[in-house]
Amino acid sequence: MIDFNEMIDNHLKKENRPKGTGRYYPSEIGMCLRKVWYSYKFPMEIKPDLLKIFEVGNIMHDFVVEVLKSEKNPHVQLLKSEFPFRQDIDDFTISGRIDNLLLVKASGKEILVEVKSTTDISFVREAAPHNVVQLQLYMHALGVHNGILLYIDKKNLQSKVFDVPYKKEEAEKIIERFRELHKGIVSDTIPEPEARSSSKTLWMCRYCEYKDKCYTETPASNKWP
Ligand code: SF4
Repeated sequence: MIDFNEMIDNHLKKENRPKGTGRYYPSEIGMCLRKVWYSYKFPMEIKPDLLKIFEVGNIMHDFVVEVLKSEKNPHVQLLKSEFPFRQDIDDFTISGRIDNLLLVKASGKEILVEVKSTTDISFVREAAPHNVVQLQLYMHALGVHNGILLYIDKKNLQSKVFDVPYKKEEAEKIIERFRELHKGIVSDTIPEPEARSSSKTLWMCRYCEYKDKCYTETPASNKWP
């Protein structure tokens, strides 16, 4: 018999290459800074289940591209679906391919669309702050100052769209986050357990592969639940 689960795992398996100090990925800065720091100091292989979830995101992205390209939707034109990214800042570089970003033209305007797949669209009531952070960086670096976050439900293709107005000062704060990350990595100083600082971000810890390490380093307390 064919074990298709195993075949998917084989297909998605990736070589685990350690990340180099001084080169950071644009797609990771919305995450908990401590988690990103751990990923440089203690690289871990991504578990097969998580790789499958990421792949569903890629499949959804391809579907959104298809919809935008469709001649049945002539009012929106897809201009670009691949974005190599590079920004040199101080003594480090932010670079990498941005996977979930599209550039479209609608109502005479160029708009950056960041696609996010979700498990239940009914819980999505506003653009998630960590997604907004990401999009601010892209709008800033790519010089396109109109942005949209498009959430799409994996189980029924229902979607919601949120405008994200470009704010230069927000984009600059994100660059500052990269500086903080770089400083922490170079000086071997662990950042605070950021995701545990607010009930709005605590959910990130559920999916964090460094959770045990993090709680050993900073045990649960009133300040850091
Ligand atoms: S457990 Fe939470 S606070 Fe700690 S590193 Fe992971 S995401 Fe960050």
